[in-house]
Amino acid sequence: MALNIFDLHCHSWFSDGTLSPTDVVNRAAKNGVRFLSITDHDTIEGLEEAEHAAHNANITLIPGIELSVTWNNTTLHVVGLNIDRTTTILKHATAKIAQIRFERAKAMALDLEKAGIPNAFEGAMRFARSEHLLTRTHFARFLVDKGLCANLSKVYKNYLKRGKPGYIKSTWLSLEDAIRIIKDSKGIAVLAHPGRYDLSSSARKKLLNEFAELGGGALEVTTSNHTPEQTAYFTENCLRLGLKASCGSDFHSPDESRIDLGGVIPFPSILTPVWAEWLPYFPSLSSTEYTAQC
Ligand code: AMP
Ligand code: MN
Ligand code: MN
Ligand code: MN
Repeated sequence: MALNIFDLHCHSWFSDGTLSPTDVVNRAAKNGVRFLSITDHDTIEGLEEAEHAAHNANITLIPGIELSVTWNNTTLHVVGLNIDRTTTILKHATAKIAQIRFERAKAMALDLEKAGIPNAFEGAMRFARSEHLLTRTHFARFLVDKGLCANLSKVYKNYLKRGKPGYIKSTWLSLEDAIRIIKDSKGIAVLAHPGRYDLSSSARKKLLNEFAELGGGALEVTTSNHTPEQTAYFTENCLRLGLKASCGSDFHSPDESRIDLGGVIPFPSILTPVWAEWLPYFPSLSSTEYTAQC
């Protein structure tokens, strides 16, 4: 049985996960998840397949996306949940980011070539489905496969980050635009894994304030790597700013991810869950004892 019947953040092979949307859905269902959101980086391409699979597996799929954002020189991730995946504004945004990703991937490969590692674009593509959806994870898998690093976390120590080979600075969406795109697509904007960003405590507070002021709706209070202190901190800030709470494993792969689908711990029940207003969309929520779950 799942630790949590809600898993509102994970990836399929349409971004940097290794499983198809169908396999993600079936694995989640097998683990006991009942409400799942697949939130691929900057793309909704896997959602149609995921909806079919969820129907067959008798679990509820909440359409989602994880948008890349640049805020004060820091890359952030904003998850959009319960989005209408057919809006023009979302199509434009994903097309724009796809172009940035393609150009960045070419530049990353050139930078790796200068460091003595040729053919990285082709190498990363062996792990990807589209040259417009290449992420650092695909390059990291190529570097591990080549024997240059023992595992993915070693890659992120020596490559692909600021000051290391293969790092290319990119400018993603502004925080304001990301929130607007999600809201105009009828979704709720969730600040993903807020404990993972390398920010001073004053910058972190400024981010949370700005996120709320700009119309952000929720914080991902529990994720794969929050410490109990971080969970407490983001709980307090949900209450302070009137934000809802979300929870997600950020599962990418059975071989690479710390926790499995459905393995994220529930957030404190004092918080208002992100799904509080979703009853009209997902009637099965009405029979769910979610206050006790999360
Ligand atoms: P990108 O959006 O192309 O910059 O790629 C970011 C992705 O790389 C994240 O979504 C993670 O899946 C992965 N990633 C980044 N840093 C790390 C890290 N230190 N350890 C493991 N995965 C990472
Ligand atoms: Mn990822
Ligand atoms: Mn992320
Ligand atoms: Mn993610």
